[in-house]
Amino acid sequence: MVVDVAIVGAGPAGAALAIELGQRGVRVNLYEKARAPRLKACGEGLLPHGVAALSATAGSLPVAPVVRGLRFVVGGRSVEADFPEGPGLVVRRDRLHAWLLDRVAAVPGVDVRLGRSYVPDGARWVVGADGTRSLFHRRLPAYRPAVRRVGLSTHVAGIEGVRDQVEVFFHPLGEIYVAPSGTGEALVAALLYQRTFRRDGLTLLLRDIPELRARTTHIEMTTPLLAAAPLGLRVPRVIDGNLLLIGDAAGAPDPVTGDGMAMAFASVKPAADAIVGGDLRAYEQTRLAMGRTSERLGRLILRIARVDARAARTLLGRPSLVPTLVDVAIARRALNAATLLRAVL
Ligand SMILES: Cc1cc2nc3c(=O)[nH]c(=O)nc-3n(C[C@H](O)[C@H](O)[C@H](O)COP(=O)(O)OP(=O)(O)OC[C@H]3O[C@@H](n4cnc5c(N)ncnc54)[C@H](O)[C@@H]3O)c2cc1C
Repeated sequence: MVVDVAIVGAGPAGAALAIELGQRGVRVNLYEKARAPRLKACGEGLLPHGVAALSATAGSLPVAPVVRGLRFVVGGRSVEADFPEGPGLVVRRDRLHAWLLDRVAAVPGVDVRLGRSYVPDGARWVVGADGTRSLFHRRLPAYRPAVRRVGLSTHVAGIEGVRDQVEVFFHPLGEIYVAPSGTGEALVAALLYQRTFRRDGLTLLLRDIPELRARTTHIEMTTPLLAAAPLGLRVPRVIDGNLLLIGDAAGAPDPVTGDGMAMAFASVKPAADAIVGGDLRAYEQTRLAMGRTSERLGRLILRIARVDARAARTLLGRPSLVPTLVDVAIARRALNAATLLRAVL
């Protein structure tokens, strides 16, 4: 039977789009080359607008630790801000994957092909939801940022005082994220610069940042240490003929924004509208605009992080800037990066 849509990749973007399309009566083949849900290098934080978008598509949410906001720690001092419109979630990627596949299985009209790489099947529309190394980047080129970065993530038992916030610690080698992950473990992710990259960078930062050292009784990794590099991807065009890219395949901001999955889920309804309406152009505009805001936010945070001591002084002197960054991060406000940067520096 000829299907309407072939979706390549059942990560957050592809699985959520399959749910949305299936619910609208569209016949979908969903290809996923992995045989079973698995972990992926990720900070695992889902920002509030991503929580809202996922809930709107799936009708429910995975059970996962709730976070009320962000806490930035720079040079031994900290500022924090709560998300203004509801909490975020921290969802282990293997659990999110399993939960999404369960939801997909409950939707009629979606044929899930686990353990199967995509082969063209004659579908009317093809969706590339296959991540930063999308096979469709041969057709719609993608570009890596000039500043190369490497991401590491794992789950750690032994860190005390992990509560209902995502904590971001800045360090000359990069940033380290600590967030609750359930059952007494913490998600720990390090985003490091390639030029100073060290394999032991994540544990090094846990030991080198005074507050984390003081809160860490021992470092027991409860899941494998996973890596991803290079971070970030710009994709100037995300549609071509019957092809549409979504999720990281359509461009990935630096993970310092924490926006990757939220942007994937927020793209699902515009993508489904485009496919059902038979015209992909409005989707492209929406997705590129989201990507630009996120990219700018990423560049801004990294510039602030690079001038560590000055940034610390400024953020601590003007804590009102932190809610502004949070607003941008949760997509409430478009960012005028130049103005904000002048204010910060
Ligand atoms: C270190 C790090 C930290 C991050 N932290 C955060 C964070 O805190 N919050 C956040 O929101 N985002 C974060 N991100 C980004 C987030 O991981 C991505 O935005 C998200 O995974 C994108 O989902 P996706 O579905 O587009 O792609 P992916 O999750 O990459 O899924 C793509 C899927 O496609 C499958 N696939 C690939 N090729 C094929 C093929 N040929 N045939 C069939 N299947 C195929 C893969 O197996 C995979 O399952 C982080 C990323 C990194 C690297």
